[in-house]
Amino acid sequence: MSQKEVLAVQNANFKNWRKLPIDRHVLELCGEAGEVANATKKYMRTLEGWKIGIITKEELIEKLKEELADIRICLDLIANYYDLDLVELVRSKLEVNIKKFGWKDPRDI
Ligand SMILES: [Mg+2]
Repeated sequence: MSQKEVLAVQNANFKNWRKLPIDRHVLELCGEAGEVANATKKYMRTLEGWKIGIITKEELIEKLKEELADIRICLDLIANYYDLDLVELVRSKLEVNIKKFGWKDPRDI
């Protein structure tokens, strides 16, 4: 799903979402990042042989997938709030990093 599609879902379901303070979306992003951290912690514990209740390693991977998607949605909402194109921002930042750190540019390989 693209950033525009996330925006369409947001507009269809929450008419006044742009009137919400931006910190609402940023705090939501932080919460979702915490959920990824917690799922990762539990996943690592299963690799170390801990018994994590009734949650299996496979269920934790499913949880991680869900939480990563939540993060992506939060990022799209924040970008939409500022009328920014997230894909373009990432592309631009990678170009900065390629120059700054001397990374290989896959377009040259
Ligand atoms: Mg979540």
